[in-house]
Amino acid sequence: SGTLPRPARPRIMTVANQKGGVGKTTSAVNLAAGLAIHGLGVLVVDLDPQGNASTALGIDHRQPGVASVYEMLLDDVALRDAIQRSPADENLYCVPSTLDLAGAEIELVSLVARESRLRNALNEEVLAEFGIDYVLIDCPPSLGLLTVNAMVAAREVLIPIQCEYYALEGVGQLLRNIELVQAHLNRDLHVSTILLTMYDGRTKLADQVAAEVRNHFGDKVLSTIIPRSVKVSEAPGYGMTIIEYDPGSRGAMSYLDAAKELAQRAAIEGGLA
Ligand code: ADP
Ligand code: MG
Repeated sequence: SGTLPRPARPRIMTVANQKGGVGKTTSAVNLAAGLAIHGLGVLVVDLDPQGNASTALGIDHRQPGVASVYEMLLDDVALRDAIQRSPADENLYCVPSTLDLAGAEIELVSLVARESRLRNALNEEVLAEFGIDYVLIDCPPSLGLLTVNAMVAAREVLIPIQCEYYALEGVGQLLRNIELVQAHLNRDLHVSTILLTMYDGRTKLADQVAAEVRNHFGDKVLSTIIPRSVKVSEAPGYGMTIIEYDPGSRGAMSYLDAAKELAQRAAIEGGLA
């Protein structure tokens, strides 16, 4: 499987786009798997009450009594007690989400340091103990307090953009929110990566969208484009990443390539070990 550069310090990335269905969860999970297969330690924090990232990583998050990201944010449960290893890969971990998280947007409002709960929970020593090189935070499709927590905890934002009509709709608003968080809560935050998803080569539109996004975001856009593929959408139904489900598929290859590109940019993003 070859080696990929290991960042000097964990790269914490928020996967955000307030539009639903653009490939946030699919990308968080499969990029994580693509990094982990090369021996990098990866933690996916599932910040969506739907828990789709937890499901795709084979984590049983509906079991009563499972410590989840909810308890980490609201009840000061430690990262060490909420982290679980994914059966997908020995280097892949997840802090699962449970349905309780749906209430968290409201419950967080009255708490002290409500925007920094996740940042405070992502204890550096525990990340080091588990050998985590990458933290990918899968955001819900909104710009509420959960997404703000993700943006305060991260240094980088990765925006998946679907190669479809209205691809850039709402992206302006997302960028303004990122600027606000940067101005008031987290000076280091920046958009480091754009990933084009669900590309359908048979349509002219997909090429137009890809060109428009590249024109707008330049070299932040990964050269790898994720194709639309039924296999990619089937994998989570089996509690699997695409890399486990069908390693030779176009979808798996594209996420492996995208993960490689991401890792090779570690040098730009804060040095290598
Ligand atoms: P989001 O997290 O932004 O809401 P998802 O990752 O859940 O988006 O993707 C939305 C839907 O599209 C899901 O049903 C998912 O399985 C499907 N999907 C995502 N990426 C692809 C792809 N490359 N090809 C086909 N279907 C995809
Ligand atoms: Mg999602």
